[in-house]
Amino acid sequence: MKTEKSTHFDTPRLRAISIVEVARKLGDTPRRVGINHVTHCPWHDDHHPSLSLVEKTGANYCHCFSCGKGGDVISFAMQHEDWSFQDACKWLSSTFGISAIQGAAPMPQRKSNHNPEERKEPAYTYIPMPMVERLVSADNSLCQILMKLFHPEHVKMVTEAYLLGNYSLYGKDNWTVFPSIDAQGRVCNLKVQHYDTDPHSPRYTHSDSKSYWLGKIWKDNGLLPEKSEFSSKCLFGEHLLYKYPAQTVALVESPKNAIVGALEHPEYLWVATGNKTSLQREVLEPLRSRDVLVIPDRDAIPLWRQTIKTLDDLANFVVSDYCEYMAPDDQKKFDVADHIISKRLQGASVVNQNQYTEF
Ligand SMILES: [Zn+2]
Repeated sequence: MKTEKSTHFDTPRLRAISIVEVARKLGDTPRRVGINHVTHCPWHDDHHPSLSLVEKTGANYCHCFSCGKGGDVISFAMQHEDWSFQDACKWLSSTFGISAIQGAAPMPQRKSNHNPEERKEPAYTYIPMPMVERLVSADNSLCQILMKLFHPEHVKMVTEAYLLGNYSLYGKDNWTVFPSIDAQGRVCNLKVQHYDTDPHSPRYTHSDSKSYWLGKIWKDNGLLPEKSEFSSKCLFGEHLLYKYPAQTVALVESPKNAIVGALEHPEYLWVATGNKTSLQREVLEPLRSRDVLVIPDRDAIPLWRQTIKTLDDLANFVVSDYCEYMAPDDQKKFDVADHIISKRLQGASVVNQNQYTEF
């Protein structure tokens, strides 16, 4: 099919079309199971429906429990019918009456039968979404702390939006699970971290453990295929970018910073790189053309400022020195969560507001 330069699709609206309705229009008969629906997976030769169609607050995607693949409404239609991105958008726009198509390319034909031989081999590049959804809970150590500092309902909303989980690991309960979910709704990795919930401890509100990767732990314990390879090239919060296409983005390093930031400043859409060195073009690609406020941790300001300079064609980046001028002089490691939590603790008259050490 030839390139249609004059065609513009309203992709945010297309991605918001009910994925269950899309499946029906494509000839499937999705069956309700619990709060979701299931249908046959177009990514593998699926004899028993194993593709979960998930529609809930902040989510509209599919995920296959069997092969680990999935995506949004557009990628589902593309895979279902072997369509190009343009063809899938054209069909969705026309079928669901969403305008903004210019140019008159012929309607793509729906494929009548799948050819199982052409399907790709199952590969666990992503962690099955149902394994992540089962863990979603505000009982984790970070949310327990945040519940005392912010409105509990807001903490629950943020927990649901970012799919924060609660997990028991190495004899300790209430680890916080941070899933990195990409723009297609696929879980790239799961970071787990435990926070000190004792208000009398000098580490209160800070991590009291090293962090772990749950995908690797599950793989090592035989819960996921041993050849699985999970990516770290995904922003924490990336799945929310399509849901809020016009919102100014705040980019930070740690997922904890993104969560605390989202509670204090919901006017921004908060995403995190996960570590200092993931400030790379490949990782930041989903921010293309967005307005992005970059808030590096205090000890990363020069590095991030320098890196962002080389990426200024990608998005409208503004780098903030917030963590430099808000930090007490003696705290070389200081981040946006340190500042917000410190302010909140002072407001709540809780002790230890100056005990910020390593993050
Ligand atoms: Zn599948």
